[in-house]
Amino acid sequence: MLGGMSAASTQIYYRQLCRLTSERLGGLHSPELLIRSLDFAGIEVLQAAGNWDKAGDILNAEAMALERGGAGFLILATNTMHKLADRMMRGVSIPLLHIADATAAAVRKRERRRPGLIATAFTMEQSFYLDRLVAAGLDPIVPEAADRADVHRIIYEELCRGVTTRESEARFIAIAARLVERGADSVILGCTEVGMLLNQENVSVPVFDTTLIHCEAALDFAGVSND
Ligand code: GLU
Repeated sequence: MLGGMSAASTQIYYRQLCRLTSERLGGLHSPELLIRSLDFAGIEVLQAAGNWDKAGDILNAEAMALERGGAGFLILATNTMHKLADRMMRGVSIPLLHIADATAAAVRKRERRRPGLIATAFTMEQSFYLDRLVAAGLDPIVPEAADRADVHRIIYEELCRGVTTRESEARFIAIAARLVERGADSVILGCTEVGMLLNQENVSVPVFDTTLIHCEAALDFAGVSND
């Protein structure tokens, strides 16, 4: 797992992978994995400066290190950085389990077509993620501009720092409700920290949390099952 983007969500990944492995296998079982956790401060500077090539080269070096370390496949524990998936995988021979593909498959399995996407501005406004959902047969919608700016700010100023507040939770709930009013038949938590505020308890349509979906998909891919 290539994580640290942010560390707040990499902790959720690790907890979920442990919980799910224990659920699937019982006893003392726990997941075998390597985690390379980056310092998000440096990554965020590159994102904000639009220096994506440099960020991609960092991910590429880390992916190669994980392969050398013995990883059988890779998960990149952030939606946004999948923008750089191709560059990250240059010269890497183990597969990448893409978070958008796993998510699209989960949405389709529940027979939803028009998910609202709550994510960073990069993920909501650029094509790398939306196109992938469209290619999988979905018709995603994103929040209006003011809501997108709010979501982006809360992700970077609060959630990625491990901070959750009632005020931001209320904002996220309202933003999800506006997506539903505009026709969303489901909501994708398309940023690995958004599950810190939104879940099936506070959204009226089916919620697809990319972090949880990615963890389930990783265990499926690794063949962790009790049958
Ligand atoms: N973890 C977030 C995501 O899933 C945002 C942080 C980042 O830019 O990597 O998009």
